[in-house]
Amino acid sequence: MTASPSVLPVDVAVIGGGPAGLMAAERLQARGHAIHLFDAMPSVGRKFLLAGKGGLNLTHAEGFEAFCSRYAGRTPSLRPLLQAFGPQALRDWADGLGVGTFVGTSQRVFPTDMKAAPLLRAWLQRLRHPPAPGVPVQFHMRHRWQGWQKPGDPSSPLVFDTPHGRQRVQARATVLALGGASWARLGSDGAWQPWLQAAGIGLRPLVPSNCGFDVAGSPVHGRSEGWTPLLSERWAGQPFKSVRLRCTGVDGEVFDRQGEFVLTATGIEGSLVYAASRLLRERIAADGQAMVELDLLPHRSADWVREQVAHPRGSRSLSSHLKSRLGIDGLKLAMLSELLDKAAMNDPLRLTAAIKALPVMLRRCRPIDEAISSAGGVCFEALDDHLMVRQHPGLFVAGEMLDWEAPTGGYLLTATMASGVAAGEGAARWLA
Ligand SMILES: Cc1cc2nc3c(=O)[nH]c(=O)nc-3n(C[C@H](O)[C@H](O)[C@H](O)COP(=O)(O)OP(=O)(O)OC[C@H]3O[C@@H](n4cnc5c(N)ncnc54)[C@H](O)[C@@H]3O)c2cc1C
Repeated sequence: MTASPSVLPVDVAVIGGGPAGLMAAERLQARGHAIHLFDAMPSVGRKFLLAGKGGLNLTHAEGFEAFCSRYAGRTPSLRPLLQAFGPQALRDWADGLGVGTFVGTSQRVFPTDMKAAPLLRAWLQRLRHPPAPGVPVQFHMRHRWQGWQKPGDPSSPLVFDTPHGRQRVQARATVLALGGASWARLGSDGAWQPWLQAAGIGLRPLVPSNCGFDVAGSPVHGRSEGWTPLLSERWAGQPFKSVRLRCTGVDGEVFDRQGEFVLTATGIEGSLVYAASRLLRERIAADGQAMVELDLLPHRSADWVREQVAHPRGSRSLSSHLKSRLGIDGLKLAMLSELLDKAAMNDPLRLTAAIKALPVMLRRCRPIDEAISSAGGVCFEALDDHLMVRQHPGLFVAGEMLDWEAPTGGYLLTATMASGVAAGEGAARWLA
């Protein structure tokens, strides 16, 4: 390849060293290509390492069709990628790196030691010292991609800001694996959006997914925003255990599940809320707010609750009555007092209705930077079956920067890696 001396000519550039980029590099390496992997950060896989902090949930052991259905509207686009590299393939791949996996509670799959670091270490070791005849991946850290030399023209050199100044790179094939826009301090900041847009690549705006929400306030206390200080100062950070959360999406999809979440200073977050986050975000976008109903005693029928609430309480206070007869105290009691006025608290029928379906109005998603993942990104319609941009042959896209979302539970990493496999294989095919 001919190029001016200041442009580094490479066979393949992979930009982004998260799981998607590393997986694309691995597949290309296996086909004999020399890979140059660029990342803005001083080291790769920072979000992957963070994911390992609370136990790296690699994938999920449910049946394949149920697994695919977690990607909701993007299931048709992701199914072929997951057929090629699905949950079992991911477990086998980890095994090949010397990291065994096990199926934990609710069929989530974890590495035996729950950690990401040993897996990442073994992975990088193999990329740097591949079995013959593989060529070691060359890692270029602190190389922040800034788009193409000619804005909107992916056939022009890639431009990087580096500690040694600007670096231009001309690649025969490029895989973009830049992540979404959450936890920007770990590297993925979504800055790529205008550059791809200028190249005419179809995008949906990045929005928070698996995120917390701010509440719309309590009319009882005359608040239009947030919790009263009484609730937030005493209870922020405390979990709601064993509650049921119900909500309805804009297209009528019903979410109705039991689990746990946490009260925050301004709203709610945590696994049960994350699971409902797509429906809630879409509802807020459509209506300006979204309502969830909480069943504070999901194991008890409304009749049982009504009987207990109405049971004569003599001289006992309402709070000790609720505690002794219904087991409602602490945060659950505080929430009832936050959202019901005195008359409702003292009306057995209204109190029963609130215990079984306490309405909480949500006003907005928490900022995308706080979210576990992002939705939106490069539209599948802009890509062929190998994740190559139709308009720009030789340019591939993988990972969270694609327009899909999924709940937590291992679905994020599985689709991320499956798309890395597809883009890597696609790029190798195209180069051949
Ligand atoms: C707290 C937390 C816990 C999580 N836990 C789990 C879990 O248990 N299971 C699960 O399935 N998923 C989990 N996830 C989600 C999972 O980590 C992501 O889905 C996954 O990391 C996405 O991979 P990616 O390669 O697409 O992007 P990323 O991992 O974000 O990697 C993108 C890379 O691109 C680089 N980059 C970005 N812009 C540029 C640029 N301009 N120039 C050069 N480099 C750039 C970044 O530095 C980064 O290294 C978790 C996420 C968070 C935040």
